Amino acid sequence: MSANWNAWREKVLYPLLDGQKLSAEEVKQLGGLALLSADADRVQEYVFESARMPEIRGASMLLQDLNKEVAGLVEQAVDAKCVIYYGGGSLLAILPDDADLLAELKHKIESLYPQCTGVATTTCITYSTTADELRGGYGTVTLEAVNALRGAYPSEWRRIAASYEVYGQDGKPPGEISKDAFEARRGFGQMVKLAGVALRRRKDNRPLTPFRETLPHAQRCRSCGQRPAALMGRLHEDLWPLCEPCLLKVKGRRADRSHWLEKYLGFVAKRSDLEVTYYGKHGPDDVKIANDLGEIGQACAARSGYVGFIYADGNSVGRLLETQRTIAEFRQVSDALKDVTESAVYQALADLVRPAKVKREQDGGPEIIHPFEIITIGGDDVLLIVPGDVALPLAVRICERFGQGMKEAGFQLPDGSPVTMSAGAVIAESHNPVRALRDVAEQLLKRTAKRRTHDARAPALDFLVLKSQSMLRRDIDDLRATYPIKLPGESKRTALRLTGTPYTLEEMKTLLRLLRQMRLSGFPTSQLQRLVEALHEGRERGSLFFLYQQARLHERETGAILKAIEKAWHFDEERDPIPWNRVDCDPDAEVAYTSILPDLAELYDFVPSKEDLGRWDVLLGEVSDALSG
Ligand SMILES: [Zn+2]
Repeated sequence: MSANWNAWREKVLYPLLDGQKLSAEEVKQLGGLALLSADADRVQEYVFESARMPEIRGASMLLQDLNKEVAGLVEQAVDAKCVIYYGGGSLLAILPDDADLLAELKHKIESLYPQCTGVATTTCITYSTTADELRGGYGTVTLEAVNALRGAYPSEWRRIAASYEVYGQDGKPPGEISKDAFEARRGFGQMVKLAGVALRRRKDNRPLTPFRETLPHAQRCRSCGQRPAALMGRLHEDLWPLCEPCLLKVKGRRADRSHWLEKYLGFVAKRSDLEVTYYGKHGPDDVKIANDLGEIGQACAARSGYVGFIYADGNSVGRLLETQRTIAEFRQVSDALKDVTESAVYQALADLVRPAKVKREQDGGPEIIHPFEIITIGGDDVLLIVPGDVALPLAVRICERFGQGMKEAGFQLPDGSPVTMSAGAVIAESHNPVRALRDVAEQLLKRTAKRRTHDARAPALDFLVLKSQSMLRRDIDDLRATYPIKLPGESKRTALRLTGTPYTLEEMKTLLRLLRQMRLSGFPTSQLQRLVEALHEGRERGSLFFLYQQARLHERETGAILKAIEKAWHFDEERDPIPWNRVDCDPDAEVAYTSILPDLAELYDFVPSKEDLGRWDVLLGEVSDALSG
């Protein structure tokens, strides 16, 4: 088929990608232009419908393979260069505006997923466009016409101007939109945004999951618990009743490394210093993949049995992409996001994680494993599972490396602020269902955005140490708005919250430095717990007890830590009755004070031993200058 499009390819596609101006007439004669946008539906629902690792890993790999296959379909139909972007289940391509070609491609793409997975679907739309639109943006709106709205609709002007990121100052209405601000919002990125809107509309308007009837007496699949079982299969140790889609996830890949792990190992192998740091005394071939969450939990040396689920995501990345003027710029940014995110994850893993010896469930024999699972890196989205004692430093490291990487690559947001990443991390026992951990991590990630709205020091990180399964079913905001995390006050706006989360990355690093110092000096856990217990008795009692302990222990190392907490956290004498911090702007209007002490107490259990703490230096600096930052 591709031979038919030779002229289109040479005279339309290549010049267009090159940024050349094309004659509308000629483009039309050669076949016109259309955008094709495809996106896998409810990806995470599909990946996390089973609770166990092999199916989750298999499902994620299957989706990755299919994503690549979709790009292959476009390539076969016309040309590899048509594909502007693919990854994380999405694809964006520029194609001839030929009804037959587009209908066939769309059909092939949309039927590929159900065919290969039995259950997952993808949505695809096509959008007729022109070379001028792909270069200069949608429609014929001019700057003059937009600015004329200021006089015509004064009450609407604030909203209109905001869409060009023009704001009024000191409460005054915004002025006219400048040529730069106007131009910045017209171009290829705007067309991608429109295609995205069309895609969402189509998703909302069609049934996504192939219907499967469940008869009342049918046995359900033991892996997903959702669909009727079709046969007995050996997925884990025993024979399980399984459904077809679950079997497809693991077919032929039971012992495979994920594509992400392969890429990580390649990343490490290319850098001899990293290879030495990461593998230590182990040979690369001796290290196996983790079979399940239990094994990753075993690798948590500080407190065995705990895993950390991290969900990280670039901030305002949609805005960054939508404001790219040309196809070339758009491609550069989306490629950079992909590369920078992957490198950030790989570098952070090599810095902070080490192969670990675990006891394998089936045969009980010791095995050395890579103690983590990268579930996905989709564009600027990261989902991964690590040992509980690695979760927070690793999450901070990934966010930090991402910010550095985007800066080094020369990218910034339209308003000139840096491109950053935030993360949510939940630390929990390894027997918890993975999808529940994912849900909590996502909630935590969303909470970081709440902080960003009133704190310019973004990016941020929120975490939760899960102490009971009942916490899994609770909404995080609700959890933190009730006893014992929130202590109601006697009058208006006097409530106390026994956590300082979410934190900015810098604050999180300060906490980690304090925790490191506590571990190095052997700070007693019981002492920390007494300080936290005193907080439960109210603001004044909490403060008095802290100050009393500080004075009583001032000549000992324990007292030095209490001084260090005061110094590192910059308690303001005027407003912060140590160890409380006054909050000025909290989503919960009743809360007047929060404290970092309960967070330190929760995390102290997850601080590695003195011998392993050196690993944190790469993130926090050497111990000597530990508290200067
Ligand atoms: Zn199933």
